[in-house]
Amino acid sequence: GLRGQKGWQQAWRSPQPKPRYDILIIGGGGHGLATAYYLARAHNIRNVAVIEKGWLGGGNTGRNTTVVRSNYFFPESTALYDLALRLYETLGRDINYNIMLSQRGIITLAHSEAEMEMAARTVNAMQINGTDAELFDAKDVRRVLPLLNVSPQARYPVFGGVWQGRAGTARHDAVAWGYARAADRLGVDIIQSCEVEEFLVEGGRCRGVRTSRGEIRAERTGMVVAGHSSHLAAKAGFRLPITSYALQACVSEPIKPVLDTVVLSPGTGTYASQSDKGELVIGGALDRVPSYGQRGNLPVLEDVVSGLLEMFPSFRQLRLMRQWAGIVDVTPDSSPILGESPLPGLFLNCGWGTGGFKAIPAGGTLLAHLLATGTHHDISRPFDLDRFARGRLIDEAAGSGIAH
Ligand code: FAD
Repeated sequence: GLRGQKGWQQAWRSPQPKPRYDILIIGGGGHGLATAYYLARAHNIRNVAVIEKGWLGGGNTGRNTTVVRSNYFFPESTALYDLALRLYETLGRDINYNIMLSQRGIITLAHSEAEMEMAARTVNAMQINGTDAELFDAKDVRRVLPLLNVSPQARYPVFGGVWQGRAGTARHDAVAWGYARAADRLGVDIIQSCEVEEFLVEGGRCRGVRTSRGEIRAERTGMVVAGHSSHLAAKAGFRLPITSYALQACVSEPIKPVLDTVVLSPGTGTYASQSDKGELVIGGALDRVPSYGQRGNLPVLEDVVSGLLEMFPSFRQLRLMRQWAGIVDVTPDSSPILGESPLPGLFLNCGWGTGGFKAIPAGGTLLAHLLATGTHHDISRPFDLDRFARGRLIDEAAGSGIAH
């Protein structure tokens, strides 16, 4: 089918790695590529390489369910995730790439009186923290989700929910490809099929990495490898409070438009949206045991699909088309880690768990600031690794949306 498609322009170069860069980024997912882009654009540091062991976006960035939102509870989290959402709102123009941002709104359902009280508390917190939120009653929910099972006899009756109108979806591959093309045009080297195997440690400092394509040196290195963070941290000589799990998702066959918001039901542990192609994009909870198997298992998939049918009985005739999984990096407080690692010269952006796609523009901006200046931006400071020693956790287990 592609026989006639010849002479395409490369979207980014494929250079040979140089022996030395000012800054190295390990991991060519959204956060790594965004970091490289903001280093070049905001800090004018262009002697930068992104090293990816596979292909760009082949990790969680190309495997997620594309939901973007900032409906978290604590002020530190709102500052972080709302920065990301604001940057997403202008990203298509900034990098001249259509990321297909669709601010169709998200409704997080409440299934009991007690959950409605929690929903009211969340809405109040979000509004006080400066982001948009509305408390919906059952009538409001019916208006935005006409196919939802709102019968009082439903196993999970619907009382209302938290609505965030600016939330929605964005095309995941486009975010990775758009940042890659924009970074490449500013002079960043993007090197695929290049695996980091060891860290070069001299004088107690990280001086670069040994890769499957030779040694590459740098003054500062950023490690942005999501589910593989503990594995690489062990090679650098320290431990991270991260457990890696498979998180899976699936899509149905395409149908005509029937669902024009994102819906999340904490009771059933399932969430869904409809893609522009018409497929229902369905996600849910983590697999129960830590794993690096990028497949996911059938019992969790069955739970997720039964949650969907509980919400929308009319979807029961749909066939599933694809199922897949990614390896996510979960911290004890479900918040990310941003900051310098215990090995000086090596900086971390990880621990996003099930929810880092929405944070890509902010994760990139903040890690670029850390790498360029050696110090925290005000927004990243609370997310430093030292919070686990100081006990100042930012516990977003509820805000993270999926049961951990
Ligand atoms: P990745 O995209 O995983 O990139 C890391 C890269 O590092 C990979 O490409 C990997 O190959 C590379 N790497 C690893 N080890 C090495 C090495 N030794 N050398 C070189 N390169 C290496 N988030 C949301 O906000 N909304 C959602 O709806 C959502 N849904 C999700 C659904 C699923 C099924 C999954 C799996 C995740 C979901 N997430 C969601 C989470 C989100 O996808 C991740 O948090 C985010 O993509 C992390 O981006 P990243 O750039 O840090 O990691």
